[in-house]
Amino acid sequence: MKRAAMLLLTLLASPGAFAACEVRIEVGDNLEYSKDVLTVDAGCDTVTVNMAHTGQLPANAMGHDWVLSETGDARAVVDAGSDAGFDNDYQKAGDKRIIAATPIIGGGESTSVSFSLEGLDPSQSYTFFCTFPGHYPAMKGTFEIE
Ligand code: ZN
Repeated sequence: MKRAAMLLLTLLASPGAFAACEVRIEVGDNLEYSKDVLTVDAGCDTVTVNMAHTGQLPANAMGHDWVLSETGDARAVVDAGSDAGFDNDYQKAGDKRIIAATPIIGGGESTSVSFSLEGLDPSQSYTFFCTFPGHYPAMKGTFEIE
């Protein structure tokens, strides 16, 4: 009983940390994520990224995905993905540099990906980006683990 009460107090005292295990981002009919930085709590067992495409164009014309890698790997992941083609979400199968990735979605669709932070280093630089051809220069942001 006492332990349960303390757990409840802990949860009430840190709503921010609790919420930071799940983040939301939006994309549309342009080359832009709604956020430049996503921050998650280093204490999260699992992180979930929810992405909604609020535009109207189909995935093969203005599709977007959300892919996470170390910042130094991002460009190479995009280049490898462009050869993989639309049917493979412009992501190279088995690419070990990809930490997490959603499929490519079009207007009106939503997607999400959940992954563990195990093995990730908060002092390392991570970047999220879109692998749809031509989108990477504009569609990328910083993924922070605090
Ligand atoms: Zn895109």
